[in-house]
Amino acid sequence: MPQKNKKTILSKSTFIKGMQCRKALYLYKNRYFLRDPLSPEQRAKFIRGTHVGIFARELFPGGVDASPKTHFQMAKSVEKTRELIEEGETDIIYEAAFSFDDVVVALDILYRENGKWNGVEVKSSKAISETYHWDAALQYYVINGSGLKLGDFFIAYIDRDFVKEGEIDPRKLFRLESRLEDVKIKHEKVAGLISELKETIALKSSPDVPIGTHCNDPYPCEFMGHCWKKVPPGSVFLLEGIDKGQLFEWYNNKGIKTINNLPEFILQKPEYQKQLESIHSKRPVVDKTRLAGFFPEREKKQLIMETFIFSPAIPLFDGTRPYEILPFGLGWTDFENMQHGFVIIDPGRNPNNETGELLMEITDPYDLIWVFNSSLEKALIDKYARNFPEKNDVLMAFKSKFLDLRQPWDEHFVVFPSMEILKNAEDILTHFERESEKFPKNLEIPQEADALYQQLVLEGNEQKKQEGLASLEIYIQSKLKNLVRLHKLWLDFHSEV
Ligand code: SF4
Repeated sequence: MPQKNKKTILSKSTFIKGMQCRKALYLYKNRYFLRDPLSPEQRAKFIRGTHVGIFARELFPGGVDASPKTHFQMAKSVEKTRELIEEGETDIIYEAAFSFDDVVVALDILYRENGKWNGVEVKSSKAISETYHWDAALQYYVINGSGLKLGDFFIAYIDRDFVKEGEIDPRKLFRLESRLEDVKIKHEKVAGLISELKETIALKSSPDVPIGTHCNDPYPCEFMGHCWKKVPPGSVFLLEGIDKGQLFEWYNNKGIKTINNLPEFILQKPEYQKQLESIHSKRPVVDKTRLAGFFPEREKKQLIMETFIFSPAIPLFDGTRPYEILPFGLGWTDFENMQHGFVIIDPGRNPNNETGELLMEITDPYDLIWVFNSSLEKALIDKYARNFPEKNDVLMAFKSKFLDLRQPWDEHFVVFPSMEILKNAEDILTHFERESEKFPKNLEIPQEADALYQQLVLEGNEQKKQEGLASLEIYIQSKLKNLVRLHKLWLDFHSEV
């Protein structure tokens, strides 16, 4: 393949980026340094996708891998794929790479059947989205354009109804759906889009694209830090409960940038009053009566607890489904003596019933159990009850012990200028500028703890396993300390005069 200016070459990811936002593509190709740092969420997603992709090769075992040593050597990969096809000694190629019209793509699986080559793109999700169709359409366009006429094009994705029993049959775990008609329909559009995107990259300056709902759809944009830095303090985006499309329309087209410029009918609405008060005073607005009702009588024996979960895309235990949420550990703090405790289920054992039993045993002496998002613990109890119907009554009664540390936030007992949806205790603590316990560097978010535990289930090296467990232990303890801090935060608001 002749050497091209790398800047003008598109790939699957830059094509999708350009479809999401022309400015994002321009910045990526011309102002790469403006990118936000890779988030831990993106890192965890990438690891999961790679793992599923490798497993999916078992759909067509025994193939030859054409992937390059690094992403910068795609030209070699294209060359290798061409040679493998010409030599004709293999019927299956993984990461087969093709180049056409200044676009380079790598297809997960290329296989030959009855003399015809077919393509398979693997997705680690349980459904096919519109973005995946475009992704497939681009690949079909490039592969056909490069001279290889495909007989069919499939998307492989995970069957949500699959239940593991013994060794996994990849043909049952994955659904393989032909998308030939869809990709053919999009053929002309793909050609037009490629040419538009190439024009965008060649622009002298960044295209003028205002911020909008597209900044998070279909993926969070990596240039948010750059584009959103001009959003003024007290902006309209702080106000929760108004349709985002409407907010962007006001912000971009009507000059309504801050809360103060909002139409009177919005400013008068009772549901926004507390938030507006908080924005103006720059202080939280506390509903003392409701917050007081949130705390139980002091003499009740109380425990703070968190359940730690993982959800493997490829089921690891018999009787479980893809992405089933499984507990791998529990952490708790006794309110009276502030003693912490934790348990991590030995990786390799199906944790479902074991955690259910431990949960019951640990919490039995307590009247009340504080958790963050009680729906998780309640779901685990429901699952445990399904496995042990004879304990159903006890278990259902047990659910009434839970108190949810998210409640003051979710139900606006405490209102702050920005009431965006916060996912965890750390987010809320940070939001109120309270110090949050730091996690180990490799375990900043629950998805990373999830990925680490999955690794440990498959880990053969005892030392690595112990190291991983030690990191998880620190992670669990830090999480627990943050829950205690969150409880204290609500207490502080309650007792402030
Ligand atoms: S932040 Fe929004 S406007 Fe800016 S490049 Fe990304 S998607 Fe486009």
